[in-house]
Amino acid sequence: MTWETIIGLEVHVQLATRSKMFCGCPTTYGEAPNTVVCPVCLGLPGALPVANAEAVRLGVRGAQALGCTVHPVSVFARKNYFYPDLPKGYQISQFDRPLATDGAIEVETPERGTIRVGITRLHLEEDAGKSLHDRIPGHTAIDLNRAGTPLAEIVGFHDLRSPAEARAYLTTLRQLLVYAGVSECSMERGSLRVDANLSVRRPGEPLGTKTEVKNMNSFANVERALEAERARQVALLEAGGVVEQVTLTFNAGTGEVKVLRAKEDAHDYRYFPDPDLPPLVLDEAWLAAEQRGLPELPAARRARFIEAMELPAYDTGVLTAEPAIADYFEAIVAAGTDPKTAANWVMGEGLASFNETGRFAVAPARIAELAALVAAGTVSLQAARKIHAELVGRDASPIDVAERLGLVQVQEVGALEAWVDAVIAAHPDEVARFRGGEGKLIGFFVGQVMKRSQGTADPKAIQPILKSRLAG
Ligand SMILES: [Zn+2]
Repeated sequence: MTWETIIGLEVHVQLATRSKMFCGCPTTYGEAPNTVVCPVCLGLPGALPVANAEAVRLGVRGAQALGCTVHPVSVFARKNYFYPDLPKGYQISQFDRPLATDGAIEVETPERGTIRVGITRLHLEEDAGKSLHDRIPGHTAIDLNRAGTPLAEIVGFHDLRSPAEARAYLTTLRQLLVYAGVSECSMERGSLRVDANLSVRRPGEPLGTKTEVKNMNSFANVERALEAERARQVALLEAGGVVEQVTLTFNAGTGEVKVLRAKEDAHDYRYFPDPDLPPLVLDEAWLAAEQRGLPELPAARRARFIEAMELPAYDTGVLTAEPAIADYFEAIVAAGTDPKTAANWVMGEGLASFNETGRFAVAPARIAELAALVAAGTVSLQAARKIHAELVGRDASPIDVAERLGLVQVQEVGALEAWVDAVIAAHPDEVARFRGGEGKLIGFFVGQVMKRSQGTADPKAIQPILKSRLAG
């Protein structure tokens, strides 16, 4: 009898604002410790928070992209707990009246096809500071630069049935939020964090005890951590043991999960509405305008690429993975390249540089010029790739580069005929065999002409001349 895996994910994303959630401190990354702080985010007595309108707008946008109902009135609440990196002794969050609830997203999964994953809620909150355990030997240092950074917490319903589905969900969620401009969603830079809950049960039985896994630094590692935790729980249960409600941490080096602490019975955070902040009241007309103003989301863009541009599904998946990739592709098409050719350029040379540097090194108009040279037979595809490499990081006209490197193909009929005739004269045996029915020898003749022309002949232009001469 098999085990069924039940997974639910909580994702924190940093909202892409310039300043913090309740003060004017910048949200810049990588500053010296404790330099981007003020009385508000330090929690000094008498300092008063004011909600960041842009953070609210981005939270609304994220909620709308996830199909949530955004509530016209939500309430900021204090979540009270003690931790050295929490200067106020409480975190401003939202509790019983969150910004948004009841959304859902569609996720392509490896095992079950397209599934719907519920979004239970999305609420706004501020981040805490950071405890640095490796900075001063034997001590813990505190950096409060992150304190007050605006976050949206997105609680997904436990609709996921495998670690692979969890990863697919995260990929889809991230894509939606990046498209909507809500967050940069970089796990590396700390702008997206995942806490995962997992339990197992025999199919049809009530939910098992769930554990929480933390400390995963990539989507691949979320999948690995959940695989490890599932295996741990199943082994425990099959040995007659019970699963305890614990929090675990993942070690990417060993691929193992380790119990960090026993989860205290529902921690009492003594939530209450923050008396310093009025309820967050959003105008219905403004909400409707925001909904209309949502940018085109990945699924719509994929559908448009398939329908209007007749691209294969695989290509559209690659091209829409990031808005920057899709924008680049569309700019090349707009510059006059046919969509499939543009897609090939983006997925080949383009993505190689994008994945390395985070940007595309050659302007879309130059790719279009290059593609036109190939289409006209002026340069071969192979030569075009060499020209592309020359264009990386320095703008030049592809035809100039082709001429400079001697990559322009000879298409002039007289020159081609001379090479063809010389090749035919030099290979009487092959000519006889070809005329005797060995049609595949055409490749041999093309190769010989290319050789004789030192690679400069246009192979497409050679073919008809060869065929007519050989038929003679
Ligand atoms: Zn501040």
